[in-house]
Amino acid sequence: MKKILLLILITSSIYAQKFEFTRDDTLRGTITPERAWWDLTYYHLKVKVNPDDRSIEGSTTIQYKVERPYQILQVDLQPPLEIKQITQDGQTLTYRKDGHNVYFVNLTKPQVAGKTESVIVEYSGKPRVAKRAPWDGGFSWAKDAEGNHFIATSCQGLGASAWWPCKDHMYDEVDSMLISVTVPKDLMDVSNGRLRKITANADNTRTFDWFVSNPINNYGVNLNIGKYAHFSEKFKGEKGILDMEFYALESNLDKAKEQFKQAPMMMKAFEHWFGPYPFYEDSYKLVETPYLGMEHQSSVTYGNGYKNGYLGRDLSSTGWGLKWDFIIIHESGHEWYANNITYKDVADMWVHESFTNYSENLYTEYYYGKEAGAAYVIGRVRLM
Ligand SMILES: [Zn+2]
Repeated sequence: MKKILLLILITSSIYAQKFEFTRDDTLRGTITPERAWWDLTYYHLKVKVNPDDRSIEGSTTIQYKVERPYQILQVDLQPPLEIKQITQDGQTLTYRKDGHNVYFVNLTKPQVAGKTESVIVEYSGKPRVAKRAPWDGGFSWAKDAEGNHFIATSCQGLGASAWWPCKDHMYDEVDSMLISVTVPKDLMDVSNGRLRKITANADNTRTFDWFVSNPINNYGVNLNIGKYAHFSEKFKGEKGILDMEFYALESNLDKAKEQFKQAPMMMKAFEHWFGPYPFYEDSYKLVETPYLGMEHQSSVTYGNGYKNGYLGRDLSSTGWGLKWDFIIIHESGHEWYANNITYKDVADMWVHESFTNYSENLYTEYYYGKEAGAAYVIGRVRLM
């Protein structure tokens, strides 16, 4: 493990020498005075997705507690998306743009310490298209084999403000969140948490309300839209019965029923090593996406082609890496390290990735023994 850490340190010091920070980086990466005075408590994200012209429109209600009085509030939203209006208690507010991605909102109502307030930020536009999801993320607009829309978001690193207005810094998380997603009526949306309600609208769309009852980091929030088949199982876990829900494209249902048997195996192993799955209230979901996968909280996304290994390859070259599906095991490991324990600053990304890499050899050890786990991790280090 030391070798890995040393590599990370060397790599990051090289980056530090070459990289010059811009005003946008500073506004994004620091706890500015316009962020520091308020504590996020709740988001209601409403978003309507129009697949035919790849546009979205919606709003975020940002609820917060005033920690100390201040009259300017920072909201992040990346172009080409545009803010249409910002209101507090029904009153339209003025704002000033700083850099490319930040809006400083002038609050007129006196902000009193201890009070809970909210602003509603309305926005619309054609969001950034993912170039190489999930690493270079945004919206992935794909089609399934039958020609149906198959759409997903990913924004780790890039930031959630690539597709919805928010406080785009990892130090602060809401306590709970409602995600209301409107899609053409023949499609469904799977987001985070529990599906509360489906509403049929007059304009041939449906709205899916997903409620997350745990704190959630902003890049964990996601949309997955497609013609999904669903199956589930009740897992007898360390904290009681855990609902495990599976969403696969209809044409992949048989493959998913076979491959996703590894999800309860993962749960058993990781509860053994790390303690109860952190989000029983929100269920565990595994959701097929048009890209490789991501650790979205309580809706881990999956695009590994229903093959073991990493797209069918063994990252350790020992054979052990082909015993299990890398995306199911690795991305689910992040439920403990990234989603439950979350860094406050991106400089501490190693907390997310190194513990989750370690979870891969613990999984191997749980099912195949200590020597197998050791061989796997040695194989992984050699290839780094
Ligand atoms: Zn990872």
